[in-house]
Amino acid sequence: MVKVIWICLILAFRLNFLQAAQPTLQALVTNGPPETRINVVVLAEGYQAGEASKFVQDARKVVADWWQTSPYTDYSNFFNVYLIFTPSVDSGSDHPSRKIYRNTYFNSTYDSYGLDRLITIPPNDIDLLYSDGQGKVDALLKQLMPQYDLAMMIVNDPEYGGSGGQVPITSVDYYAPAVLVHELGHTLGDLGDEYDTDAPSSSTESANTTRETRRDYIRWTRWISTNTPVPTPKTTMYASAIGLFEGAAYHATGWYRPKQTCRMRSLLDPFCEVCQEALVLSTYRLLRPIEESNPVATDLVVSNAPVALSLGVMEPASHNLNIQWSVNGVVVPGINRLEMNIWPAFLPKQNNNIQVEVRDGTGLVRNDPTNLLAEVRTWQLTMVGTPEKPTVFFENPTLSEKGVFTSLLRGTYNQGFVIQYSPDFHQWLDLETNLLAGGVFEFTHNRVGARQDRIYYRAQLHP
Ligand SMILES: [Zn+2]
Repeated sequence: MVKVIWICLILAFRLNFLQAAQPTLQALVTNGPPETRINVVVLAEGYQAGEASKFVQDARKVVADWWQTSPYTDYSNFFNVYLIFTPSVDSGSDHPSRKIYRNTYFNSTYDSYGLDRLITIPPNDIDLLYSDGQGKVDALLKQLMPQYDLAMMIVNDPEYGGSGGQVPITSVDYYAPAVLVHELGHTLGDLGDEYDTDAPSSSTESANTTRETRRDYIRWTRWISTNTPVPTPKTTMYASAIGLFEGAAYHATGWYRPKQTCRMRSLLDPFCEVCQEALVLSTYRLLRPIEESNPVATDLVVSNAPVALSLGVMEPASHNLNIQWSVNGVVVPGINRLEMNIWPAFLPKQNNNIQVEVRDGTGLVRNDPTNLLAEVRTWQLTMVGTPEKPTVFFENPTLSEKGVFTSLLRGTYNQGFVIQYSPDFHQWLDLETNLLAGGVFEFTHNRVGARQDRIYYRAQLHP
């Protein structure tokens, strides 16, 4: 009997140990297959085996705060979030200045490079070994989530702190989510700090920090109203203006930022417009708006039958994308949709270039020099033979005593049409937009009181 109990105890211990030692991957938010989304991995540092559920809660808080911050409110659905849990022997992190040392999985530490709030993992000034910190991160990502785009780390220590860099880090203090969103600004958007406290730092020009004072050469000049002086006084008059405010990149003078307040300067403020723009552009650097196009082949031979062209797109959470089709460089007006049937009989030439452009018209971006917010697909359609034109004609036109005009539209054309009328063959006014159903559409125009006027009708076919 005693022997059996012992075996059970040993087995239980062994199972626990195996469970604890095994790093695990878990999806926190899935917005789509990993191939079609920006994949973010959150790593656990300084959590003991029994604190796995606390880690999930902490990560959830951070992600919720991140996605409630503009511009990510508009683009949260572009991301998937995964968690990797690796238990540590101790809870928390090292604080060398107070001689506090904890045995943790990635050997994180506060007090890096002489700054008490700077949390880093090796290699750093305290532990030079890549294999103690970043090496473990890289190995875990390679093993569990090779499709990751971005990794971040939550350090289970209640003291305020964090860092940017390759793997942004935050602790679990009250401001942790806000810290991480700030750090993500560095990592995702390549944004600079907008702090004006002098600190030893090798500052570089960035999307939101500059030494440039000539208005036309400032990176964010398109955001600066012509009424706003440059440099801009830090007065209440310009409290919400975009301008050129002195003090940025750890310099009180000689460096400038776009706005008086910004998340890259203070944890309780939203990102300024210039930083939001940089973050939207960086999102589109990672994920393009067109997910798929059909047919996949782009050189098509067409004869009589209509050819269906279509797109699958990554629509932001907050707004629709603009879709514009053109045939041989001529825009097809009014077709803001993802599919189009091309009737060979309507193609103007034997070889035709059909193009569709998808564009995010967000007001958050004014400068997009490399056209990141747009993507284009083109097909070359070569016509063989002489295709038959699809037909549409009016049938049985009737005008009743009461002035109601009716007619059937009949034909083989399966795209939309708009029925128009004109008193003089010059000015045409839209009456009705519709489709033939089963090859027929019953058209009615009530002209009570005007039956003595002569008017003309026509149907304009949508491509
Ligand atoms: Zn900013």
